[in-house]
Amino acid sequence: MTHKVTLIPGDGIGYEVSLAATRCIQASGADIQWDHCLAGADALEKTGELLPAAALDSIKKNKVALKGPITTPIGTGFRSVNVAIRQALELFACVRPAKTYSGVRSRFSGIDLVIIRENSEDLYSGIEFEEGKPETKDLISQIQSAVKKKIRMDSGISIKPISKFASERIVRFAFNYALANKRKKVTCVHKANIMKFTDGLFLESARQVAKEFEGKIIFEEAIVDNMAMQLVQKPHNYEVLVLPNLYGDSISELCACLIGGLGIAPGANIGSEMAVFEAVHGSAPKYKGKNKANPTAMILSGVLMLRYLKENQAADRLEQAVSQVILEGKSVTYDLKPDPLDPSSVGTSEMADAIIEKLKK
Ligand code: NAD
Repeated sequence: MTHKVTLIPGDGIGYEVSLAATRCIQASGADIQWDHCLAGADALEKTGELLPAAALDSIKKNKVALKGPITTPIGTGFRSVNVAIRQALELFACVRPAKTYSGVRSRFSGIDLVIIRENSEDLYSGIEFEEGKPETKDLISQIQSAVKKKIRMDSGISIKPISKFASERIVRFAFNYALANKRKKVTCVHKANIMKFTDGLFLESARQVAKEFEGKIIFEEAIVDNMAMQLVQKPHNYEVLVLPNLYGDSISELCACLIGGLGIAPGANIGSEMAVFEAVHGSAPKYKGKNKANPTAMILSGVLMLRYLKENQAADRLEQAVSQVILEGKSVTYDLKPDPLDPSSVGTSEMADAIIEKLKK
């Protein structure tokens, strides 16, 4: 069966890793017809828009997209195109598996956990009030009189909305994911001891949803700072973690490093009708055009995409080919070598070639 899939290469290292991934996916045996669309810095240059409507329309039509990383300036400048895509398409669940492949340099082996991050609200909602603006001062005055607490007038304010609806939705998604993937435990990660009305609501929603799965899936709770420590000490104790947006972002980066680095950590943004697959890593601008970036995270995001499309045989073949190349340790990028300066490391496209060779066997 032919699947139509939107391809957004992104910017920075996006073009290189996207090309590597599409070549490997094609070699896996799945029949994919790519609908190429622009978003990010290159789209801005060519069309005058960061997120052209054509890209969103294409995803809405095809229901599935593979997306490369897109740069977001820190502090000032435009807001994240990545967050805008997730919000515009209601891709409320971010699924990030963290699994160790044999041969990868990592302190741990045998890690196989999955991070389920709420994607639609929290401090990522983009509701912010800039320092010094009259509306910010008004808001500060209103809050001060309502709660009788001092906020400095030269403050910026970011709003953290967390709803019962979105919290129950993501926790139910996490439990159903655990059931479907034969996982025994879901851990809810929060900071409800400090943020009682936001994280507290997230935790309470999780406790209520957990009751629906009693006897089938074990439910645990963990405070986010403690979770960071536990993951570094005993990552094998965890199977599925469900978190609000911001903690999900940070903890998934921590988990990527537990399994050998950002170069190999894949991800998926899933809604009730469509899904966008992308690596955990960003656009790594310093490596742009250098044929240096590791394509594995993007290729494994393609594996998740193939599973979503029910192309399980192609997904298994591709994952196995990736894992063989990593285990052999010859045709791998700099970050997968014991010494990153090892001159025998290969480029992005050569690592993809080695994976494609394995798929031919
Ligand atoms: P980054 O993930 O782009 O890079 C951090 C470092 O990780 C790199 O310098 C490099 O050493 C390493 N790295 C990342 N990907 C790699 C790969 N494939 N192979 C080998 N090494 C790799 O993070 P950053 O520097 O904080 O962000 C750069 C830009 O990307 C920012 O504008 C940020 O907003 C954006 N970003 C986009 C996404 C997305 O598109 N979903 C996600 C995260 C960050």
